[in-house]
Amino acid sequence: MKSLHEQKLLLAMLVGIVAGGFSGYFWGSAMQSVAWLGELFLTTLKMLIVPLIAASVITGVAGLGDVRRLGRMGGYAVAYYACTTLFAVSIGLLMANLWQPGVGVSLAADAHAPKPAVGDIGFSDLILSLVHPNIIAAAADMKLLPIIVFCIAFAAALSTLGERGRPVIAFFESLNDGMMKLVEWIMWFAPIGVFALIASKLGAAGGGEAFVAQLAGLGKYALAVISGLLTHAALLCLFLAVLARRQVGDYLKHMATALMTAFSTASSSATLPLTLEGVKMAGVDEKARRFVLPLGATVNMDGTALYEAVAVLFIAQAYGIDLSFGQQMLVLITATMAAIGAAGIPEAGLVTMVIVLEAVGLPLEGIGLLLAIDWFLDRCRTTVNVFGDSVGAAVVGRLIGAKGGA
Ligand code: ASP
Repeated sequence: MKSLHEQKLLLAMLVGIVAGGFSGYFWGSAMQSVAWLGELFLTTLKMLIVPLIAASVITGVAGLGDVRRLGRMGGYAVAYYACTTLFAVSIGLLMANLWQPGVGVSLAADAHAPKPAVGDIGFSDLILSLVHPNIIAAAADMKLLPIIVFCIAFAAALSTLGERGRPVIAFFESLNDGMMKLVEWIMWFAPIGVFALIASKLGAAGGGEAFVAQLAGLGKYALAVISGLLTHAALLCLFLAVLARRQVGDYLKHMATALMTAFSTASSSATLPLTLEGVKMAGVDEKARRFVLPLGATVNMDGTALYEAVAVLFIAQAYGIDLSFGQQMLVLITATMAAIGAAGIPEAGLVTMVIVLEAVGLPLEGIGLLLAIDWFLDRCRTTVNVFGDSVGAAVVGRLIGAKGGA
């Protein structure tokens, strides 16, 4: 896409978000009449996810040529995901200890909130979620992790076949190009889509006054999460400049449409097509972005990890339970696991938080305290999740020593 087109689209999306905010604020529930437009945008993006992930991962891995290079790229990616997620949880713990957002919060209002429906999720469940008995059923259920694992293995196998593997790789190359063309087309609908998503969600939350009241009720908690997310975003910018040697402003400009979509949809999976497009525009190495982004959108969730740490400490403080240093270290580990286990869909982090609460023995009902404002904080953390993925692609792209993009 030409740069002028990119700028026009950016401006139109900004107008869409601001207009959506105003309309939802002033017209409240009346704006639910445009919810279907937001749904249309979201569903259209989701429609691309499975073929795009398959084509992207297979061409990214097969493009490496030598299977041994896959180990190096995978190693860098996993190291980046692990380090940045641990940094994010640490920042979350720091913010919650600093702001003490749960101290003095009344438990009465939400004491009977329903418990989230989730069973125990342990380490073995995380490993088992890498595979699926039926790859078609996994695709139909949008279980992305087994699809990615399958595609990595399949592409590695293809690349060992030499000439015989070429036609299949060429097919996926064309599929990838066709999908990216569709992404360009869908992006022209994005300004209307983000307008409708923001306006209808704010409307569903009761409009401007209700939102301000919710925010005021959990003000310190929201502040702790948002200041943590901003601190982590600043750290990611530092990584971008130092490790990936990128011009931060320039990179953010290319990523802006994806970040705005992440904020509007609260889904890193649905945003993936635009993240791929943004990182491509920023000139990140083709193989790195095609491999690192789909994996990142599924397992790398810095914003979610940070938010889970703040939320769990908030609940402990609200119940007057003091978490020792050792217990906070347990939060560090389990929040990292919970963020990996969270799907890239709206409010998934709220559900996997159960892992962390159970690990430190906190009441699951505490989640009820956070519900009112979660729809908004979800958008903020999803934006950081997507930014973290894109920085990961740039860092890995630089580390594998490749230059430029397709
Ligand atoms: N909505 C987030 C995402 O899609 C996940 C979460 O934290 O709920 O990245």
